[in-house]
Parts: sequence; structure tokens; C-alpha cells
Amino acid sequence: MRILLLSDIHANIVALDKVLAEADGSYDNIWCLGDVVGYGPAPNECVERLRGLQVESLAGNHDWAVLNKLSVEDFNTNARRAVEWTQSVLRDDNFDWLDTLPDRETRPDDDLTLVHGSPRHPIWEYILTPSTATENLSYFDTRVCFYGHTHVPMLFYREEEDKRVTPEYPAPGTPLSLTDYSKCLLNPGSVGQPRDRDPRAAYAILDLESHTYTLHRVDYDIRQTQKAMEKVHLPHPLIERLAHGV
Ligand code: ZN
Repeated sequence: MRILLLSDIHANIVALDKVLAEADGSYDNIWCLGDVVGYGPAPNECVERLRGLQVESLAGNHDWAVLNKLSVEDFNTNARRAVEWTQSVLRDDNFDWLDTLPDRETRPDDDLTLVHGSPRHPIWEYILTPSTATENLSYFDTRVCFYGHTHVPMLFYREEEDKRVTPEYPAPGTPLSLTDYSKCLLNPGSVGQPRDRDPRAAYAILDLESHTYTLHRVDYDIRQTQKAMEKVHLPHPLIERLAHGV
């Protein structure tokens, strides 16, 4: 079974549809690590696309903020404005779907854990440094933990027990063999708002039989998403950043 792994779509339907087209034929199921909405101009379209494809998704901090499960006080002004705009346009059945999403998933048979932020704090914590990654190793029992939230495709791995965690930026298109690690944390990057200075949409293909993981990047029509954001008056810095991948 091959899984299309998505994270941080952030209501960017142009990027999501490009990823789905590009990955077509190379996966059997789709998993999403949360933040389906927030920042972008197409929350209903993105939720409906995932619902239509029966995607198994987790909840992220922006999803929770839209649901009022998290206070927007903790968000910066632009993110908060995007959350409030999303609340004003999201249809009831799409709210209800977001409300069903769990904050963590463990798949013992596949030796996998899935979260949005971190296994220690699934909704909120950012894993950006080896020290945070190391601290989080004791919060999951499987070999691999997939996470999102930082919008940076990354790998933190430990080859052997008690060894230090090594950070790595996997090269797109090069498969990683997950059995090489005693434990690892893997982020497939962001579909709708990359922040590693590469504006292309990010996603990964996970092969559960061969235990391989491959990161992919794909160009999408950024201008189209920016125009849709301008039309509904989303904050300018959120529009601008898409072009730079920050
Ligand atoms: Zn996010």
C-alpha cells in the first residue's frame, strides 16, 4: 500500500489540486497531517476535496482555531485575520467534518505515529531543532513519527539507541529507507504554504511494503492563489510570502 502524505494545505486549492494531479497513480490512500484551512482563500474547496477523496486527516492548530477549540489570541495578527475570515465563510458541514479530526494517530501494524505538531504536544509544538526532536523521541513508541506544522520538509533520525539525533533535509525524488533508522521524525513539508525558501508545493509518498519514503516538490500557479486571496482581502504579507516560500 502506498500513501500520499500531505500536510499544511492551508486552504490553497490550486496547490492541492496540482499535488493530486502530479501524484495521481502513485498512491492508494491519502493521509493528511492537519491545517487543512487557515491562511488561504479556499477553505470550503479544500475540505470538500479531502472529504470527497475520503482522506484520513488529523487536526492542526489552524483547524482548531477555526473551530474555537484554540484561542486566536495566540496567533499573530495576520494569521488571526485569516482564521476569522475562514470562520465567516466555512459551511456548516465543513465545520462539522473538521470537528471530527483527531489530534494524533498511532498505527502499530505499520510502526507509525502521526501528529500535526509534535508527539509531545500534537497541536502546538514546533519541531525545528535536534534538541526538540530528541526530547520528543520518548513520546512515541513506533519507529517513525510523521509531523507537520513547521512547513519545512525535514528528517530527524537516530541510527542506534542512545545516539544523538541527526537533522537532514531529504532531497526530492530520492527514496529514504525507513528501516535504516532505529527511530525518526519526518515532515513532508507544506502543500499550501512552504517555508523553506522553495515556493513549490511539497508532499511525500510512503510505501508501507518497501518501507520507503520519498519527498516530492511541484510547481503550481502561485499567482492564481494570490489573486483569489486579493479578491477576499486576506492580509498582504500572507499573499506575498507564497511567492518566496517563507
Ligand atoms: Zn500550518
